[in-house]
Amino acid sequence: MESVLTVKCKLQPTLSQVESLEQTVSAFARACNYALKVARETGEFRRFKLHRLVYRDLRAHYGLSANLAVQAIARVGQRQGRRTGGFKAGSVTYDARTLSLQGETVSLSTVDGRLKIPLAIGNYQRHLLQHALSVQGGQLVKSRKGKWSVHLWLHVETPLPPGGGKMVGIDLGQAAMATLSTGERFSGGSLKTTRLHYRATRAEIRSQFDTTRTRGSQRLWERLSGKERRFVRHTLHTVTRRIVANLVAGDTIAIENLTHLRSHTTRRGKRGKYLHQLWPYHLLRHYLEYKAAWRGIRVVAVDPHDTSKTCPRCGCREKANRKTQRLFQCVACGFQHNADAVASWNIAQRAGSMGMGHQASTSGFVTCPRILGISTLHRPLPESPRL
Ligand SMILES: [Zn+2]
Repeated sequence: MESVLTVKCKLQPTLSQVESLEQTVSAFARACNYALKVARETGEFRRFKLHRLVYRDLRAHYGLSANLAVQAIARVGQRQGRRTGGFKAGSVTYDARTLSLQGETVSLSTVDGRLKIPLAIGNYQRHLLQHALSVQGGQLVKSRKGKWSVHLWLHVETPLPPGGGKMVGIDLGQAAMATLSTGERFSGGSLKTTRLHYRATRAEIRSQFDTTRTRGSQRLWERLSGKERRFVRHTLHTVTRRIVANLVAGDTIAIENLTHLRSHTTRRGKRGKYLHQLWPYHLLRHYLEYKAAWRGIRVVAVDPHDTSKTCPRCGCREKANRKTQRLFQCVACGFQHNADAVASWNIAQRAGSMGMGHQASTSGFVTCPRILGISTLHRPLPESPRL
């Protein structure tokens, strides 16, 4: 199987190169803002139409190369529907024609022509670079502290999962972020409290100007501060890495398919609703899928219906079996255990009985629309993968 990975590499530019990079990100941002202004005035965000309107100006007035002008227009296209925000001079998008790798040196187009800048990388990045099939482009990024790096999009080969491993069910929840049918348990406690803290802080600032409430996790996600986002990603990376660490090629991870649960409005308090929306199921699943794929582990998703109410001993399905959030106690046979653990067994059992551990076709990269999105559109991941 083939897939695209984002790898962050620090750059070691000379002083004069820094000058060129500064001018390039600045010109790129100004070009994006100009194109955004035109797009908003004309209501034309479609790439080809917008291209016709602004391309010449971008080349003539902002000093962008043809390819960078195209990338700027593509970036503006992604802003369609958003009311606020301009572009800051923080990054430039490159494709395979404007960014290339020669050993541990990256070659980038800038307003001063092509620059060759050495990478400062560790063994982890080196390993990935050496095993990449190709580089599909990337993003030049300037951090808030003024450090330069490049996020490379590497086309890599991931192993085809062999069959015959064990089936591990995972119950994803709020109290415990992940409970495995093997008995392992990963807490989500700090994620929850930290997010609530961020939420309180943000609400305070927001109360002054924001009166409209947007719906849907996507928009909510976009509103999150960078700090909170980084914290969430870090937590999810840690949990998912630990989950796959104890598995081997051929194993199968079964999770609940929760893609439409979020729209169900059950009775919850204001705080509970927020947590429910913020529970990062998609991101966690995404991280789990690519980390697993990299190791030849399958990820399958099963119907979550009744997994927390079914008795693993006698098969009795009753709402009353779930005594409390924590306790499962079967009304028919009296079996009792931790409710999350019971759910994880049921998930593993359900996936196993459907023969999901032995399928030739797999989930993982192939089914992840975000990943497919990048490889076809050359767009960066909303979050950069780490293994
Ligand atoms: Zn029972």
